[in-house]
Amino acid sequence: MIRTRFAPSPTGYLHIGGVRTALFSWAFARKNGGTFVLRIEDTDLERSTPESVKAILDGMHWVGLDYDEGPFYQTQRFDRYKEVILQLLESGHAYHCYASKEELEAMRAEQEANGEKPRYDRRWRPEDGKTLPAPPEGVEPVVRFKTPLAGVVAWDDAVKGRIEFANEELDDLIIARPDGSPTYNFCVVVDDWDMAISHVIRGDDHVNNTPRQINILKAIGAPLPVYGHLPMILNEDGQKMSKRRDAVSVVDYADKGILPEALLNYLARLGWGHGDDEFFSIEQFVDWFELKDVSPSASRFNNEKFLWLNAQHIKAADNLRLAQLVAPRLAEAGIDPADGPCLAEVIALVKERVQDLNALALECDYFYARRAPSAADLEKHLSEESRARMGRFAGRLAELSDWNAEAIHALFKPFCADEGVKMGQLGMPLRVLVCGTPQTPSVDAVLALIGRDEVLKRMRG
Ligand code: GLU
Repeated sequence: MIRTRFAPSPTGYLHIGGVRTALFSWAFARKNGGTFVLRIEDTDLERSTPESVKAILDGMHWVGLDYDEGPFYQTQRFDRYKEVILQLLESGHAYHCYASKEELEAMRAEQEANGEKPRYDRRWRPEDGKTLPAPPEGVEPVVRFKTPLAGVVAWDDAVKGRIEFANEELDDLIIARPDGSPTYNFCVVVDDWDMAISHVIRGDDHVNNTPRQINILKAIGAPLPVYGHLPMILNEDGQKMSKRRDAVSVVDYADKGILPEALLNYLARLGWGHGDDEFFSIEQFVDWFELKDVSPSASRFNNEKFLWLNAQHIKAADNLRLAQLVAPRLAEAGIDPADGPCLAEVIALVKERVQDLNALALECDYFYARRAPSAADLEKHLSEESRARMGRFAGRLAELSDWNAEAIHALFKPFCADEGVKMGQLGMPLRVLVCGTPQTPSVDAVLALIGRDEVLKRMRG
């Protein structure tokens, strides 16, 4: 049974790197008929906040990555972690360490002075034939894991291939603090075991944790999951993405007018590929996804490509849905689409021209209220002569028996012939006069949608 999880720490916003991790984990479960678990790793009580938990849940909802189990919260599982710590103590895989902070600092200073790598010297580690001092009075010990002293920890990473660590390199890590609270690496292990996770798919910033987690899993007698470590996403300059420089939070993308399916499509393409396919649906992605096709090296975010993809998804999206997304943006500009043509029809006409929903809202505004034309456009397109011509054209529009794009279009040729002008000399002034801008789609379709009364009002007003 395939079981994967996404295990964010709620210490900020939902990062797009996290969304990509969630996406790959989710897709792997979906593709294989497995189960996708959401686990909130909130053991860091100082840095975890309820706002951040909400940001994660809202972000997952926005991108549409649904989970089958959870959200589970580590803070609700402390009793269970303590139980396993006791088991490890009893089976001799863990031990109490009473070394004080001062002692540890002195140890470190001495090691550094000798040019050695600082590490805990295992002074409280019980070994055959070793006599330990009596535990000092009134000191609450930490619990340390008894890391094997020799040998290697190795795994076949589903993304990066074989990875090996020498046990010699690993410390006897602390699994419980003096107050008994469990530490991060330990909670992850117990959770992955209890939640029967078959594939741990996570960022490659965790590669160094994996040998420690594998050693603990082996000590508990738990089966080892398959690990797949995903490379980082870098910004366009090849730097680690940072909130200061880059759009990193899911909310940033929603605000920028990105469609969730476009974000997922782009994140899927970052570090994974299916031939030359760039534009695809989430269903296709699930169908095609294989962990072995994930690139082991970091990939760079390319904004131009990303916006191109968003434009493709806007073109493909249902117009009624787009209308719901654009309406609040219009409302911010003081426009109520109820006061004019059907917004979905307006969107159908203009959506090919934009790359994001904010730009889409801007393209819709003149259907509801004429924009104030720029001085340059007025001068260029609406001379006195041209205004007089517009007056005559308004007369023809007023007489039309049918008000639709074809009927309006049919007026153009004969009118231009009568006036002795080219189509541009009719179309451009007409756009500026009615819409306030020369940049519009086909003017006949635009006029048809705005409606006769409003068009004539704007032309004569
Ligand atoms: N909580 C960790 C993080 O947010 C992920 C741990 C894991 O996936 O094992 O980076």
